[in-house]
Amino acid sequence: MSELEYDKRKENKLENSLCKSPFTGFYIGPSGNIVLCCMAQNTHLAHINDVDDLESFYNDSVMEKYRKELLLGAYSTMKPCDTCYNMEVQQLQPFKVSMDNHFKFKNFDDDWNARLNNETRPIRYLEYTLSNICNADCATCKSEWSSKWQEIDRKFGRQVTPLQKVKDKHIAKIEKVLYGLEHLMIKGGEPFADIRNIRILKKLTEVNPSCKINIISNFHAITPEAMDILANLTNVHFTASIDAVTPETYKWIRGGDIEKTIANMKNVYKITDNGITVSVTVSLYNYFLLDKIKDFFKDKEYVSDVKFSGFAPEDTHTVGLLPEHMYKKQQDKLKKAFANHDNNDYRLTSTLALDIDYKKIKRPAYVRELEVELKEKRMKDIFFRNLDKMNEHRGFDLCDYVPELKEWRINT
Ligand code: SF4
Repeated sequence: MSELEYDKRKENKLENSLCKSPFTGFYIGPSGNIVLCCMAQNTHLAHINDVDDLESFYNDSVMEKYRKELLLGAYSTMKPCDTCYNMEVQQLQPFKVSMDNHFKFKNFDDDWNARLNNETRPIRYLEYTLSNICNADCATCKSEWSSKWQEIDRKFGRQVTPLQKVKDKHIAKIEKVLYGLEHLMIKGGEPFADIRNIRILKKLTEVNPSCKINIISNFHAITPEAMDILANLTNVHFTASIDAVTPETYKWIRGGDIEKTIANMKNVYKITDNGITVSVTVSLYNYFLLDKIKDFFKDKEYVSDVKFSGFAPEDTHTVGLLPEHMYKKQQDKLKKAFANHDNNDYRLTSTLALDIDYKKIKRPAYVRELEVELKEKRMKDIFFRNLDKMNEHRGFDLCDYVPELKEWRINT
């Protein structure tokens, strides 16, 4: 099947459409689990410790089972792919859709034919998270994703996830498959806080420097050594996770210095010659700041596009904790502010966060069944109890910089 035939298949019923992911590669998680893709974190196919050769694994029966099922039309019923299907039905953008929209594979047709002839194919798409080692303690995070959060989770009386890390001795297995990759996606933790990512990028400069690389980073710190290696790669695209743009709100939400972050973004832009995507995690901490974030990047040549893709789902800071009337008022304000966006400044690649129906927002299970008045009181309690813990940790009150939150706390 050629890419053209593949695209035709997409035009058929959604149930029959085919995901490229299992036909191009897989995802390795921070504890070494190999899964189909980033959407499939709980469906473990194997562990990197137990796989001698990643390319053989890719070509072998475990992955083939999923490919065959998808070819038979199991997209809407097979776990974990039914998650993507259900998101697509709701017109959301699961990874399957992102892959179609953003990743082109020049060897797709040849690999397709090689598979039909039972020939070995190189891995073309690899996404990995080597560890949850991170240099930041963002308010929207937890120790599962950031090692720096272990101490905070302990202090807050929350569940603590220990350090997760692919063992050093298995990194060579990843290095061995770099030669055939067309796309490499590196996530964290924070990729530049785990030195082993630099080692892999260095190897890539030797064996496959034209591979397209996507790195998702908080831009808190990128060492000169890393910058030198990035300069030797021809096609690196960065996504910056930025959830606020004033010194205080950035410090409170991201735990860092916005000036340093911007300086690092400018340096990376200069070196890679590629505009950076800004990805905003929308939570109740920054929900009243989104128009300011949008405006801040207006005249910044180092930014190519900005995404407001959806809401952080965590019970402690989901936008779903707002009362309905406040939510609707702010949605209206944001829609007006975003309506006249000029794409000449930068592209707005997603504003999904502005289109979510209040009733569909995820909120804690234990408030869902309550009467409206009690529900609103309970949701407000949950939010400000957690906000105050973070205020204490940061040493100042976010509400002093977000008047809408201050007013909500005092007046309603
Ligand atoms: S359909 Fe979704 S869950 Fe299945 S492999 Fe593709 S991206 Fe992953």
